[in-house]
Amino acid sequence: MYIDGEWMTGRPEFPVTNPATGEIIGQVPDCTDQDIEAAIRAADRAFKEWKTTTAYQRSQLLYRAWELMMRQKRALAELMTREQGKPLKASLNEVQYGADFLLWFAEEAKRMYGQIIPSARENQRFLVQKTPVGVVGAITPWNYPISMITRKLAPALAAGCTVILKPAESTPLCAKAMMEIFAEAGFPPGVVNLITVQNPARVGEAFCTDPRIRKLTFTGSTPVGKELNGLAAANMKRVSMELGGHAPAIVFPDADPVHAAKGLALVKFLNTGQACISPNRIFVHQDQAEPFIRELSSRASRLVAGNGMHDGTGIGPLINELAIQKVDSQVKDAVARGAKVETGGHRLTDNGLADGHFYAPTVLSGVTPAMKIYREETFGPVAPVITYRTEDDVIAMANDTEYGLAAYLYSNNMATAMRAFEALDFGIIGINDINPTSAAAPFGGMKNSGLGREGAQEGIEEYLETKLGGFAI
Ligand code: ADP
Repeated sequence: MYIDGEWMTGRPEFPVTNPATGEIIGQVPDCTDQDIEAAIRAADRAFKEWKTTTAYQRSQLLYRAWELMMRQKRALAELMTREQGKPLKASLNEVQYGADFLLWFAEEAKRMYGQIIPSARENQRFLVQKTPVGVVGAITPWNYPISMITRKLAPALAAGCTVILKPAESTPLCAKAMMEIFAEAGFPPGVVNLITVQNPARVGEAFCTDPRIRKLTFTGSTPVGKELNGLAAANMKRVSMELGGHAPAIVFPDADPVHAAKGLALVKFLNTGQACISPNRIFVHQDQAEPFIRELSSRASRLVAGNGMHDGTGIGPLINELAIQKVDSQVKDAVARGAKVETGGHRLTDNGLADGHFYAPTVLSGVTPAMKIYREETFGPVAPVITYRTEDDVIAMANDTEYGLAAYLYSNNMATAMRAFEALDFGIIGINDINPTSAAAPFGGMKNSGLGREGAQEGIEEYLETKLGGFAI
């Protein structure tokens, strides 16, 4: 834990395990209520000065953090692989993506423009200034343990807010490594704070109720996000919520099914399916089902599961035992209701995988709305394939979800692609594109997938208040 520029020790600790091997790789402090209070007090005190710094000063510090991150890219990626499980190459990509936010918001810090608005009265002037919202409580998940931190902290710090970060209990070591970078970059004491906790509810409650905290930014599951949002609303706090998703992927009949299967295999099994933008319902036209399923299954079955540190590993473990059980119960439910397992469909325990949480990359065909997997987010390496007949049908099925984060479509017809883009109720749509994310692009969802956007110009707005000055002259 890092509070007010000091590393805190001497607390009870909880262990961090490697999900590929079960090995304990570190211990972190379990914060006390006094620690939560100390962090809030420090961030509140630091805000009074931090908000008066110039955007140029804040930008400089973000640049420095970016440089340090780039210099430590490999060490950060190795830590991420050991703590979270993803293959080293994916960790390197994530560290780069995480660093991109520091660079982007180092630049955006200088573009927090206000406005002069003409008044109807001759002797009146309106001036609009952007000011930081105040102390921010940030809660981050384990699936992208570094980039979800910078996606929140970089815009908050750029805007002039101070921050208390509470990372997921499965991946606090990545958060600690990032905090070392912020400390070394020279952010003043109290501007960035880290508290680690095994039972997160206490911290969530403090973030939502303490009057010194003005904003909660949360990435995690929809049920927890709704609970926190309710509490935050009762205390009139600003919120950003990046919650669950149930992304549809539509392959239109004018697309090449083999090309689409290749792309969707890549994005489906990325991060072992543990991404809120992972395609969770794959819709293919009935006339193309056969070549599509063949290619998707062949790619899934060739993926080598294993320790992400080993060369040749294509897919890492799930984060824990609970995740395995959830995936397996969805697969069993689908099979019981008539789905066919094209490949996978079981836990992996051979070849040294018994101590980790591995599940075989799985393709299910014949998936129908009666199955749990059709409705519920999976967060695992299972690709459910559903066939459709008409464009109208597939758009209606794709939108038939409480979620609205990401969607994907394959089409070689511009009019079809544009119609689908406009008809889909999702915040992020990949059109023949399996990676529609970037620090420069707004990320966020509709419906039960959340509130607000991260990254892009919009990302910094989430941390700004609008202040109007009406001047009589
Ligand atoms: P997942 O099911 O993907 O782990 P969670 O929503 O449980 O998603 O976790 C995302 C983040 O939310 C983590 O940092 C976790 O510690 C935190 N979290 C979970 N429950 C609460 C809670 N009641 N209050 C505050 N934070 C919470």
